Amino acid sequence: MFEPELEALGRERLRALQLDRLRTLLAYVKARIPLYRERLRDVDPAELTSLDDLARLPFTRKDDLRETYPFGMLAVPRAHLRRVHASSGTTGKLSVVGYTAADLDLFARVNARALAMAGAEPGMVLHNAYGYGLFTGGLGLHDGAERLGLAVVPVSGGLTERQLVLIGDLRPDVLACTPSYALTLAEAFAERGVPPDELSLRCAILGAEPWTEGMRREIDAGLGVRSVDLYGLSEVIGPGVSCECVEARTGLHVNEDHFLPEVVDATTGERLPHGKEGVLIFTTLTKEAQPLVRYWTGDVASLDASPCPCGRTSVRMSRIAGRADDMLVIRGVNVYPTQIEAALLDVPELTPNYRLVVTRGGTLDEAAVEIEVSEAFVRAAGLAEDVEPVRALRARAERQLRETIGCSLAVSLRAPATLPRSEGGKLQRVVDRRALA
Ligand SMILES: [Zn+2]
Repeated sequence: MFEPELEALGRERLRALQLDRLRTLLAYVKARIPLYRERLRDVDPAELTSLDDLARLPFTRKDDLRETYPFGMLAVPRAHLRRVHASSGTTGKLSVVGYTAADLDLFARVNARALAMAGAEPGMVLHNAYGYGLFTGGLGLHDGAERLGLAVVPVSGGLTERQLVLIGDLRPDVLACTPSYALTLAEAFAERGVPPDELSLRCAILGAEPWTEGMRREIDAGLGVRSVDLYGLSEVIGPGVSCECVEARTGLHVNEDHFLPEVVDATTGERLPHGKEGVLIFTTLTKEAQPLVRYWTGDVASLDASPCPCGRTSVRMSRIAGRADDMLVIRGVNVYPTQIEAALLDVPELTPNYRLVVTRGGTLDEAAVEIEVSEAFVRAAGLAEDVEPVRALRARAERQLRETIGCSLAVSLRAPATLPRSEGGKLQRVVDRRALA
């Protein structure tokens, strides 16, 4: 653990610390941010007696950041900023996040914690293939690794050939990138005949996209690593909001002394008990430049406060099922792309290279899955539509989807290496043709 005195703090003491920080935060944002002065005018921070009282406060949404773009949510003068990151939403308008020196220190510490959760240790080398720039991934992991005591290779995303050479020559222990790019790297090594046990990599810390256990199996086998899931979003701080521990790999430990999580019903906004899936909400307890109260992430997950074998006491969030916005409603059934991925990867002849093509038939969403089959299957059976093993595989894939997600989707089988691959950034899995209908 990077900060054991905080990461293994007893839950009672943690809750007392959170409540204390929450009161301070509410007084701070009311005094400094016009939007909160208005919205929290009836809230007296001193009267908050329990963390449950937080559930009465209004949410902050992405639109609040857009409407106050670029710096209307700053709690400090602009001259106090030391860095700005930004994220582009689906509508294209950027939302901007400012960091003070204290915020950058926090950003480095929570990423040092995450890297330690992933199994990284001082003295190791990190191959950092997250994008550097306005995106928080590259610099977040970079600062965290230096803080933990690793040497960083700041390669950023893309130029896969050069990545392979650097991994071969510099012998890094740890890989950081998106899961889809980890798969691209694994495939590229396999094509060149480099077996996983010749690679120096041991740990992989992967995030910025929803992914599944099926993807994890492929990545772990392909790179010879034990990969963990890393979560964050720029509005809250960037990567390092939560991360899986390599010991358990069942849920992501939230750094909840800094980011207080809640899960709420997507429609009513009511707080849900642990174990129930809903929209993740974060309150930043210690940020200085751009603190947020009850930020609506749009990401869907559940929380679990049961003890973890690693000794950390923080609550764990489930892997992100998807974004509430990405949910498809196919003939009345709610479906996330990750559920489709999980179902299909239980069929051994299929690979994690897939995409969903969503169209609209009348007023209903229709979706079809295109997925690559394994090399071994093509070698044995070919891929001609009318061959019995191909017909049987397609039928099995469609039945698997019907039985696990509860609605019928057409599956079309593709030859290996024909669908788009991650070039280092986030991979777009869903091709949305609804607007064309
Ligand atoms: Zn753990």
